[in-house]
Amino acid sequence: MKIHKDDLRNTNDAYVIPLGRDGQLHPDSLKKHIDTYTLNFKQWHINVLAPLCTVGKRAEYYNTYGTLTYILGIEVSSNQLYVTCSCKRRVEKLCHHTYAALKSLLITGGTDYFLKLSKILQNTQCTTSNT
Ligand SMILES: [Zn+2]
Repeated sequence: MKIHKDDLRNTNDAYVIPLGRDGQLHPDSLKKHIDTYTLNFKQWHINVLAPLCTVGKRAEYYNTYGTLTYILGIEVSSNQLYVTCSCKRRVEKLCHHTYAALKSLLITGGTDYFLKLSKILQNTQCTTSNT
């Protein structure tokens, strides 16, 4: 099945990933959320994945590899993740930056990472000072 490029999602628009029972998400299940084409990009190795700020109920992270940095946005609502990336690639599902970042968060934070994040987001405000 071929999809016209214009029909693809801009990574700035949120991609929705349903969480499993009890808000769990397994790193392996992320593979369902990437395009076959995106699978070719294996060279995104995160060296910085730093929480940047929470704006309302949205968490943002610097997603950095070498000299490239994109902003990863995550919202958790109704047991679903809403994920954005500032790379503005046109993809059917997740871009490889987001895929690598989510995988890394789940591996380091545990499969209930996003459940924990949703609880944090309910209680925090953006505290970074803009310089
Ligand atoms: Zn991206």
